[in-house]
Amino acid sequence: MTNPETTTDVEPIDFEGAMQSALETVNDHESHTEPDAVTFHPSQIALCERQAYLSKLGLKDQTDILGVFQTGTLIHEFIEEYVGPQFPTAEFEKPVELERDGVRFIGHADCFDPERNAIMDFKSRNGWYRFDPPSDRHLDQIHVYMAATGAEFGQIVYVSKGDLEVRTWPEDGLFVFDPDRFDAILERAQAIRDAIDTHGVADCEADIPFDTCGCYICRNESLTLE
Ligand SMILES: [Zn+2]
Repeated sequence: MTNPETTTDVEPIDFEGAMQSALETVNDHESHTEPDAVTFHPSQIALCERQAYLSKLGLKDQTDILGVFQTGTLIHEFIEEYVGPQFPTAEFEKPVELERDGVRFIGHADCFDPERNAIMDFKSRNGWYRFDPPSDRHLDQIHVYMAATGAEFGQIVYVSKGDLEVRTWPEDGLFVFDPDRFDAILERAQAIRDAIDTHGVADCEADIPFDTCGCYICRNESLTLE
């Protein structure tokens, strides 16, 4: 069989443009932006200093990666709605807030289980190529939830976007809260707070008070600043 004849006589619906428009509607840029010096979301403070600074202040242009966020959100929503009810004592999407030593963390923990005194954090990923858990970024993020809830134990739950296969770290069990790791997170937040207090918010790229560090996110950075 040959392919059907094509025509440009009828203008098709622009689904590519409509998808981008839908993503921009759903992903509210303001919702994770914290213009003060002291407030951080756990996912932000898990980044390097430069990216944490840019992310909390809303200085990154994320137009081209909204779909990546949205597939992650869809998977989290599915887990909360259909996996969560199987564990009635656990709290999914638990709001957390912690003030410590002049900085503040706010966000939502994916799953807090008071019986185990544990936080479980879900991470969606594109399959298992180069799967080498745990990353410091994921450990830092979950440590903020653990500090905020007083959870002694944690586990990172990886979910494949392709087929929802689950793998965990640790593979068989939970890890124990590391106060030294949390102290380092606090110091990073304080350094960013101090930079904003001292220099204000950057209004051009040259004024960003932290250099690119060479991490994956710094290497792929896209700014709203000139
Ligand atoms: Zn970096």
